[in-house]
Amino acid sequence: MNAVQVSAAKPPNWDDWKWQCAHRITTVAALSKVIHMTQQDTQNISKCLEQFRMSITPYYASLIDPDDPKDPIRLQAVPSIEETYDCENDMADPLAEEGCSPVPNLVHRYPDRVLLLATYRCSMYCRHCTRRRAVGEEDRFITEKNLQSIFAYIRFHTEIRDVLISGGDPLVMSTEKLEHIIAGLRAIPHVDIIRIGTRVPVVLPMRITEELLSMLKKYQPIWINTHFNHPKEITPESERACTAIVDTGIPLGCQTVLLRGINDRVDIMKELMTKLVHMRVRPYYLYQCDLSRGISHFRTDVDTGIDIIHKLTGNISGFAIPKFVIDAPGGGGKIPVDYNYVISKNDKEVVMENYVGELYTYPQPALYRSLK
Ligand SMILES: *Cc1c(COP(=O)(O)O)cnc(C)c1O
Ligand code: SF4
Repeated sequence: MNAVQVSAAKPPNWDDWKWQCAHRITTVAALSKVIHMTQQDTQNISKCLEQFRMSITPYYASLIDPDDPKDPIRLQAVPSIEETYDCENDMADPLAEEGCSPVPNLVHRYPDRVLLLATYRCSMYCRHCTRRRAVGEEDRFITEKNLQSIFAYIRFHTEIRDVLISGGDPLVMSTEKLEHIIAGLRAIPHVDIIRIGTRVPVVLPMRITEELLSMLKKYQPIWINTHFNHPKEITPESERACTAIVDTGIPLGCQTVLLRGINDRVDIMKELMTKLVHMRVRPYYLYQCDLSRGISHFRTDVDTGIDIIHKLTGNISGFAIPKFVIDAPGGGGKIPVDYNYVISKNDKEVVMENYVGELYTYPQPALYRSLK
């Protein structure tokens, strides 16, 4: 196995997340040292890099089978020519986040919670990312002035009880910078839950340090959501990171993206979800791939997602099954899309299908409506 070979020759600083960030693979030349590429691959990747950037941590790159062009890790990390294709439904801002942004880098779409975009940086740029980084775009963190206006907005809006810190990946910031944001939010009395969305446990697990966790612990209740897409991403390193988070008392969820050719099969999803649960990571959402530019080759039809969840339901633990959602184009928010188990419904009874397709009837209480 490639990962083992690489780990045999691991440089001494391999487990240092700053070393991993400093040695990220960003050029075709560096990439050619870790995977085998044809001349055509090299040309295609170079062409794609004219539009979009690449960045792969040495750790995540070590999980790639160098000889398999369809390797699920490779497909998520290495650019492909399809990214340069225009697709008629592609949108620059498919979730219309701009329109819901009262202050720069803050999205207020739902009644009681907001999304705070703390940085534009990530340790690895996922090829399927909603907020794709184009070449030339700034890699910046949020400014102090911007942050203060975000705090002011949240302080004024007392209905906000849940703040989701995302980006980019907030955990690529220094612990000190992140603490500054979290402490500012914690100082607002009506902010109850602070959430962090991060792919670090998957692509840079060594970032989950004692130092980070003891900082987070001071500001409970904190919840974290991470982003595993394939069972191959579950390694001793990523398992250690997830377990350390959960052992700190921070609930850890997973938001998976349904990706064509990577995880659009029931057997792969079943393995992924049961392995996540083994690490005490709770599958939260399965996302239909959105309409961001250059990712049309990752999209499946909606029925594929509905079918996968239908086939998992009843067959594995309920808490191992995420909710399948479409983040509605145009800014409608996340909409659950599910198999329809209700065959008919009236005041007297509900006829339903169970997980193997047998029909059952539930008689409705006769007087409930008239008493209400
Ligand atoms: C996803 C999202 C949230 C969080 O939604 P939950 O369903 O509570 O996880 C909040 N704000 C925005 C803009 C989002 O896209
Ligand atoms: S970690 Fe998240 S924000 Fe960063 S590139 Fe991947 S999907 Fe996009």
